[in-house]
Amino acid sequence: MKEMVNHKSLKYNWHEADLTVLEGVLARGDRRVAAVVEEAYRNGALYDSWSEHFHNEIWMKAFETCGVDIDFYTTRERSLDELFPWDFIDAGVSKDFLKREWNRAMAGEVTPNCRARCSACGAMKFGGGVCFESKN
Ligand code: SF4
Repeated sequence: MKEMVNHKSLKYNWHEADLTVLEGVLARGDRRVAAVVEEAYRNGALYDSWSEHFHNEIWMKAFETCGVDIDFYTTRERSLDELFPWDFIDAGVSKDFLKREWNRAMAGEVTPNCRARCSACGAMKFGGGVCFESKN
């Protein structure tokens, strides 16, 4: 099983924790977060990916004004049955596969490398994945 593990699969980057929290909300946010983005923009949040222009207090105030709870989008434990705002996007890889992967990860199980065994992730649907590439 050791040969299945890709030892070079992790790359560590870091930046400010405040920005990481905000990214967490924006990445997982639903339509309620749109109001926060607009509120922050109206209060001066612009060019925020440049650290010298990022003012976390503008964003925190916008969350407060809009009544949006940051923890709801970041640290809350989610049910495997929860519907996500992005569930309507079909990128091939299925939610069932991702749930299986989550459960395997929680159990400390390594999923075989695609070249050793297909785990039926769904990537082939749109012409992606090792399985598709090796046939073309
Ligand atoms: S071989 Fe293809 S379909 Fe199977 S798990 Fe890998 S990428 Fe997904």
